[in-house]
Amino acid sequence: MTYIILGGGLAGITTARLLHERGYTATVLEAEAKPGGLCRSYTKDGFTFDLGGSHIIFSRNRDVLSFMHEMLAGNREERVRSTKIYYKGRYIKYPFENGLHELPKEDCYFCLNEFIKILLADAASNTATEPKNFQEWIYQTFGAGIAECYLKPYNEKIWKHPLTDISTHWVTGRVPRPPIEDIIQSAVGIETEGYTHQSLFSNPTVGGIEALIHAIAFPIKDQIICSAPVTALEKTEAGWRVTAGNTTYTAKHLISTIPLQNLAPCIQELPPSVRDAINALCYNSVACIGIGIKGTLPEYSWAYIPDAEISKTHRISFPSHFSSHCAPEGHSSILAEITYKPGSADEPKDETSYIEAVVQSLVDIGLFNREDLVTTMFLKNKFGYVVYDCAYQQNISVIRNYFHETNITLLGRFSEFEYYNMDDVISSVTNYVNTQFN
Ligand SMILES: Cc1cc2nc3c(=O)[nH]c(=O)nc-3n(C[C@H](O)[C@H](O)[C@H](O)COP(=O)(O)OP(=O)(O)OC[C@H]3O[C@@H](n4cnc5c(N)ncnc54)[C@H](O)[C@@H]3O)c2cc1C
Repeated sequence: MTYIILGGGLAGITTARLLHERGYTATVLEAEAKPGGLCRSYTKDGFTFDLGGSHIIFSRNRDVLSFMHEMLAGNREERVRSTKIYYKGRYIKYPFENGLHELPKEDCYFCLNEFIKILLADAASNTATEPKNFQEWIYQTFGAGIAECYLKPYNEKIWKHPLTDISTHWVTGRVPRPPIEDIIQSAVGIETEGYTHQSLFSNPTVGGIEALIHAIAFPIKDQIICSAPVTALEKTEAGWRVTAGNTTYTAKHLISTIPLQNLAPCIQELPPSVRDAINALCYNSVACIGIGIKGTLPEYSWAYIPDAEISKTHRISFPSHFSSHCAPEGHSSILAEITYKPGSADEPKDETSYIEAVVQSLVDIGLFNREDLVTTMFLKNKFGYVVYDCAYQQNISVIRNYFHETNITLLGRFSEFEYYNMDDVISSVTNYVNTQFN
C-alpha cells in the first residue's frame, strides 16, 4: 500500500516514519528546500536559532514525551523552567497569577480585590452565566485586575484579533479558575506554581529543534522530496494523482499536512461552501528575530512582554540557556517573536528597520548593550498561529466533513487547523496510524 504525504513538517515526517515502521511506503512532498516546517533551525555566526519561534520539548502525554526523548537519544539537555513577564520595568513570575506579590502594591491590590469580587458575585448568584467570548471568559475567570494588568493586553498583542470575537471552546474546562488559596498566597509572597507540566523541559543539545526532525526522518530520509510544492490533486480509479513542480506522483492514499489555505487551490472541484469556509478561517503569521550578543543575559528561559508600547515582540526567549551549544562560548542569544495578520499594515516589509526597532526596544529595557550585538537573523512564517474566532467551529465542521467524504486525511497544525504543539501533532499522527492498522 502506498501513501503520498503533502508537507514535510513534523506531522508529515512523523506520519511517514510511523507508516514505515508498519511496513508501508510513503512519499513526502515538501515545498521548501529542507523539511521541518515550523521546526526548522538555522545556525549563523555560531548561534543556533529556531526559525519558527523558540521550541521546547514538553508534554503531559508520557508516551509522546518518551517518543521525542527516544528519537533524540543522547542529543538532549534538560532545563528547569524559569519564565517571567516583563511588567512596568520589572520581571514578574509566570503565570501572572502566581507572581502577584512582585507587582507594584496598587496593582497587586487591584488584582486580588477584583478576584475576590468575582468569587463573591458567583456565590451570590444561583445561575452561572456562560462567557460568550474569550474576553468575557478572562474577566469571569480571573477578575478585572488580572485581566487588565496582563491577560487582556497580552492576548490582544499575540492574537491581533478582537478578544470579543475569539471563541471560548479551547479554554473552557481546560483552564480552571485558580483556587482562592493560591491567589492569596501569591499576593502575600508564598511561592505557588502554575503550568507545572512545563516545569521541566528539554531541547536538542546540537542543531536546535530541527535535530528532532532529522532524528525522526532518519530511516525515511530518501522518501522526502524537497523543493516540491504541491499544486494539483486529482482523484483516480487507483487512488490519487498529485502534481508537484513538473512531476506527477500517484498513490493509493493521500494525507495532507499542509495548511488548508494551500490545499484548497490544489483541488479544482472544491465546493464553494468549503472554499468559503477555508477562506473564513483566521490565522496569524509570526516573524522571528534572532539576536546574538557578547556576554550574559538574565537567567530566565523566556519572558512575555504584554505592553505593546515597550516592544513589538510579545515573547523573547533565550536559546543559549536551553543548550550549551546554541551560542559560542562567552556569548548569549535571544529569539524575539512578533505576530501579525498576513497582508495587514503590520506585516514586516523592510527587514533592516524592523530588526532595528526590536533590537532598540530590548536595549531600552536594559536586556543588553548595543555594543555587545554580534549578529541578527530574521524570518517570516506565514502560518504561525491558528486563531479560534467565534465562527471557527461552524467553518471547521464544513471543512472536515468534506475532506472526510473525499478521503483526504488531514493531520497537523494548519491542516487540522488546531492550536497544536509538537506533542499534539505527534499524538494526532499516532492515533491516526493506530486506528488504521490495529
Ligand atoms: C512561535 C511558535 C512557537 C512554538 N513553540 C513550540 C514549543 O515550544 N513546543 C511545542 O511543542 N510546539 C511549539 N510550537 C508548535 C509547533 O511548531 C507545531 O506544532 C509543529 O511544528 C507543527 O507541525 P506541522 O507539520 O503540523 O506543520 P508545519 O510545520 O507548518 O508543516 C507544514 C509543512 O507543509 C509545507 N507546505 C506548505 N504548503 C505546501 C505545498 N503546497 N506543497 C508541499 N508542502 C507544503 C510547509 O513548507 C511545511 O514544511 C510553536 C509554534 C510557533 C508558531
